[in-house]
Amino acid sequence: MANCDEGYNCDRCGEYVENVRESELYLRYVMGFVPSTELRREPERHIRCGPEFAQFIVDDEFDAIACDDPDLDKRKLPHEVRERQEQVFTRAWRRLQEVADSDVTVEDYPFPSD
Ligand SMILES: [Zn+2]
Repeated sequence: MANCDEGYNCDRCGEYVENVRESELYLRYVMGFVPSTELRREPERHIRCGPEFAQFIVDDEFDAIACDDPDLDKRKLPHEVRERQEQVFTRAWRRLQEVADSDVTVEDYPFPSD
């Protein structure tokens, strides 16, 4: 396990994850899947290096990515499920791009719970 000071390289390609805008970890954090206390412990990953999530981001600003793993390919999902996932991930991705360039503190990145 990497210690606290080294958790910033992508666990798939090994390159440095330079910005939260391209971080899958922060994307999952925005979605509420990762508690803030785990941000420094969870492995980092580029959004683009995780096609199983990235395939659901549908935005003009994001180059669409396909997931070729037959078990995870969104094209195999029922239409409603796929659309729902696309909404959830795209919304989170847009929020991440937005908060990354704002004064919002990291604690407030996640969607407010309702
Ligand atoms: Zn990577």
